[in-house]
Amino acid sequence: AKQEGRNTYRLYRAEMHVRDHHHLALETALRNTAETGEGLDVHYQPLIDRDTGEVRGAEALLRWHSAEFGVVSPGDFIPLAERSGLILPIGRRLMHLVAGQLRAWRLAGLTPPRVAINLSARQFWQGDLIAEVCQLYADYDLPPGQLGFELTESTLLDQHQQAAATLKALRELGCDIAIDDFGTGYSSLSYLQELPVTTLKIDRSFVRGLGQSRGSGAILAAVTGLARELGLRVVAEGVETPEQLEALRAYHVTLIQGFLTGRPAGAEAFEERYLREPQT
Ligand code: C2E
Ligand code: CA
Ligand code: CA
Ligand code: CA
Repeated sequence: AKQEGRNTYRLYRAEMHVRDHHHLALETALRNTAETGEGLDVHYQPLIDRDTGEVRGAEALLRWHSAEFGVVSPGDFIPLAERSGLILPIGRRLMHLVAGQLRAWRLAGLTPPRVAINLSARQFWQGDLIAEVCQLYADYDLPPGQLGFELTESTLLDQHQQAAATLKALRELGCDIAIDDFGTGYSSLSYLQELPVTTLKIDRSFVRGLGQSRGSGAILAAVTGLARELGLRVVAEGVETPEQLEALRAYHVTLIQGFLTGRPAGAEAFEERYLREPQT
């Protein structure tokens, strides 16, 4: 058994080695991408009003096609970017890609909806976020309501006062502020009273549980009740089936984001589907 243990350990070490090596190579590739912007792209996923079918917003989702590794999922490269600090230059690139696209759409006479950008803690807490966002509005000639930001609870909980000041500045620029993956943090809810947020995005784990586990329904009822009291918008994430969509009706959730109502799509496809089609 001892021998076996040692072999397992060796194997483990070997795997670690391969994995570390892979991580290093991936990080090097990501560093290149951060510098050149090559292979970075943005997909847009619509937020749909369930009752009218209207597009009420979109979320910008980063895509990375590495020359070396092919398509790498955000679930893999975002954490790496956060750990290495590369999220700062990459996030900056994303903002410019989004703002440039919005400007192009507007110049083409189209009316793009508000686009929400995900912010990692590091991006939120860097000193010059507000200056950067200001500059973005100016450089790309965007109207106040054009951008939104999504943050997780854990990002905001660290330092309330400072978070509140930054969020207030973003609100003054006309930005929507959403709490992402709402309900998955361990936090108390009192911070919602103190921070000028506008939207709660209910994590898809609760949507998935609808009709399967009682708990999900209870949490949905609690969150939507709370949102109503506080005057916040609610978005249900990860809606995949007509049954889930129907079940959400009971909780009066009308804003839907999920594969059922629209998958993330490249700018061109998004434009075709949501900005040029006559809305019914
Ligand atoms: P998120 O912010 O919660 O984004 C929603 C994720 O859910 C996206 O995954 C989207 O493709 C996926 N999704 C949407 N509808 C459905 C559905 O009906 N079913 C299922 N199963 N999934 C659905 P994606 O694009 O792989 O992004 C994963 C995460 O990576 C995001 O989670 C976000 O935390 C992060 N991320 C993506 N882009 C950025 C970015 O530009 N900056 C930062 N900081 N993080 C980003
Ligand atoms: Ca998000
Ligand atoms: Ca989310
Ligand atoms: Ca997430």
